[in-house]
Amino acid sequence: LAKAQGKNRLVVYADGMAEAARRRAGLAQDLAAAADAGQLEVHYQPTVRLADGRTTGFEALVRWNHPTRGLIPPVEFIPLAEETGAIAGIGSWVLREALRQGATWTAETGAPLRMAVNLSPRQFHDGSDVTALVVAALAETGFPADQLTLEVTEGVLVEDGDAVVAQLQSLRALGVRIAIDDFGTGFSGLSYLRHLPADIIKIDRSFVMDLPRGRSAVTLITSIVELAHTLGLDIVAEGVETEGQRQALADLDCGSAQGYLFARPEPADRAGAALAAGMPVRS
Ligand code: C2E
Ligand code: MG
Ligand code: MG
Ligand code: MG
Repeated sequence: LAKAQGKNRLVVYADGMAEAARRRAGLAQDLAAAADAGQLEVHYQPTVRLADGRTTGFEALVRWNHPTRGLIPPVEFIPLAEETGAIAGIGSWVLREALRQGATWTAETGAPLRMAVNLSPRQFHDGSDVTALVVAALAETGFPADQLTLEVTEGVLVEDGDAVVAQLQSLRALGVRIAIDDFGTGFSGLSYLRHLPADIIKIDRSFVMDLPRGRSAVTLITSIVELAHTLGLDIVAEGVETEGQRQALADLDCGSAQGYLFARPEPADRAGAALAAGMPVRS
């Protein structure tokens, strides 16, 4: 009997697996066509300078409006897109869209607004030429190279480290800035900063969350800021949700921050309206 039950459980389990696999396969197929079908949208979250509270630029964050499943967040479909290779098309679409929007806002405000775009490691690893992609997108949109930031995580160096470093260096030679996203969450500690050509460190939300009281968060952020100053890097703190966190980061000499306290990521029209009004979106 026990054996029979075990067998049944196995069948149920296998059915669940098959169902999940079918769902994924369906999503993967839909994803390949999502950009062309006009289902992708870019939302924009401001980066705020802590000294004066001014918006200095935006981070572009992709959203997928699935025709039947509704809004799917990037944590769900970016990993899938990396697996299937759809990330190449999606990444290129997001870059062009964000730079087009950035060029429009720059023209409207006359301010040298920064635009930050996330790149996934896979975009560096499938033999594609990220520099060529960026050069083409800049030329097509007229967005100035020195207003563009590309965000990568340290995971980008896990494979083909030398080749990736060479690509990052050629991007920086164009005037593009490189930000290390989710800093502090990786496996390799601070030492890899010596190998990763970068201009900006983004302190991960998991540390910011523990401010202002968390002793280890304060210690860690203090040493990251010190290191950044030594290396001539700028700091952006991620995920600031409270006034206490904002004040602590300002006291710790973090240059800039993003987070729901200032604004959530918003569609271009709302982010643009807030920008025109001279303040970040509040929701
Ligand atoms: P990320 O680049 O670290 O982006 C920050 C994430 O934190 C965003 O989530 C943002 O909405 C969220 N966030 C911002 N402020 C706060 C806050 O105060 N509190 C909380 N709880 N969250 C906050 P989102 O938009 O869901 O994106 C998640 C991740 O998906 C991004 O993390 C990035 O790794 C990836 N991603 C998003 N867009 C793209 C893209 O166009 N290309 C690639 N390759 N990855 C992307
Ligand atoms: Mg990012
Ligand atoms: Mg991040
Ligand atoms: Mg993050």
